[in-house]
Amino acid sequence: MEISLLSICYLIGSVTFIIGLKMLSHPETARKGNLIAAGGMSLAIFGTIFLYKDGGEGLHNYGWIFAALVIGTLVGTVAAKKVKMTAMPEMVSLFNGMGGACAALISVIEFQHYFRVSGIHGDQATVGIAIGTLLTIFAGVIIGSISFAGSIIAWGKLNGSIKDFSFKGQQITNIVLFVGILVVSGYLITNIDFTNLYLFYFVLVAALVYGVLFVLPIGGADMPVVISLLNSFTGVAAACGGFLYNNQVMLTGGILVGAAGTLLTILMCKAMNRSLLNVLIGSFGGNAAGNSQQAVQGNFKEISVSDAAVCMAYAHKVIIVPGYGLAVAQAQHVCHELEKLLTDKGVEVSYAIHPVAGRMPGHMNVLLAEADVNYDKLQEMEQANDQFKNTDVVLVLGANDVVNPAAKNDPASPIYGMPILEVELAKTVIVNKRSMKPGYAGIENALFFQPKTSMLFGDAKAALQKLVAEIKTV
Ligand code: NDP
Repeated sequence: MEISLLSICYLIGSVTFIIGLKMLSHPETARKGNLIAAGGMSLAIFGTIFLYKDGGEGLHNYGWIFAALVIGTLVGTVAAKKVKMTAMPEMVSLFNGMGGACAALISVIEFQHYFRVSGIHGDQATVGIAIGTLLTIFAGVIIGSISFAGSIIAWGKLNGSIKDFSFKGQQITNIVLFVGILVVSGYLITNIDFTNLYLFYFVLVAALVYGVLFVLPIGGADMPVVISLLNSFTGVAAACGGFLYNNQVMLTGGILVGAAGTLLTILMCKAMNRSLLNVLIGSFGGNAAGNSQQAVQGNFKEISVSDAAVCMAYAHKVIIVPGYGLAVAQAQHVCHELEKLLTDKGVEVSYAIHPVAGRMPGHMNVLLAEADVNYDKLQEMEQANDQFKNTDVVLVLGANDVVNPAAKNDPASPIYGMPILEVELAKTVIVNKRSMKPGYAGIENALFFQPKTSMLFGDAKAALQKLVAEIKTV
């Protein structure tokens, strides 16, 4: 077998993708891993552009290809540089949607290609298409379209421009639509019918509509799980493109993205103690505020900055619980300053990280890494839950749902069953947020009304700056 230069480019692209993915699993190596994978993929792309030969002929349309490359690179770079950390899930969703659209378009173009060939020959049999190729074309168009339409809806929901929407009988409608897509595709595949472009376009449009209907009713707090699921769909759709073009790097990349997305989806479901089915039909977080739950009543007490400073400076052990509010306030640097200050005073300080704190998986890890917080100071949820009972002060910074005891003791709560950071086990809990408003799931938090909890109101950055200044004087 002759080994071409292009195969070597694809091999390098595949290997670097695997290495990059592995390195992404640790914050210290993630940046480098990303660059390595991107480098390998660039090699595969340019290899394809300059080395690919079909019947001795190379690619055409270089003008279009490079125009698209330049525009895509510019848009991607500007978007990635400008995006706020808190808007990252939106961007991931949007970019994922673009991947799904590309995969679906590949299938559309390939189907049209066979349609034209069958028209020229006037006889479908002479087109000589394998059933596997047809299956791949349909899988690509269905999965890619669902991923594209679903991701765009998820993007709109995360940026607030699209509200949760459901109607009576929606699940039945979805099932009927999906079965319809499969039946029509099955008919076209088994009859190898290229003459009927309309039926093919029906599959395309129905898959797009299904993508919209599938994501519209899903509750806001479940969006990360859905995005991860759609991400795995895009991977599978891209792998279909790899099959169609016999392109190994596309195939490897697609399969890896598909597998990684599926694993992440499972892990996130586990972190919320929910099944995927419950995520998809549970409408969690959407109308959560209206769901029945134990009434949260009572008085809360406030703490002044100076009292909070004394409390923390004289503690033996402090655990900081970062949440979405810390990211909004961009208070990670001053948070690190507080940690160093307390450590210098002999206080043992660490961070408790909930797997779905913030708005994307690993959000808090990335945020704290940005402020150079030592990775050894970060404790995972199970580890932290063992520590709270020996902790003098827990400082909750802009976290809410991830410390809500309703997840443990209110079966009617929409977050019931989700593992939480059990901060109430500590001797004292100080909660910093701006008001008594609920968090992402839209539900009240009884923690704020417990006798050992004190509220330190204000923007996290401003509150921490005052706290740091005050502790320096203690
Ligand atoms: P929450 O959204 O539950 O709560 C964040 C809190 O931060 C709010 O109650 C808000 O209260 C406070 N806050 C907002 N801005 C500031 C500020 N500038 N300074 C101080 N406080 C502020 O966040 P959690 O991290 O506890 O929980 C994450 C939630 O998001 C979970 O429900 C999770 O399922 C969901 N989710 C998770 C994703 C992930 O993958 N990590 C992605 C999408 C959703 P106030 O307005 O009073 O200040």
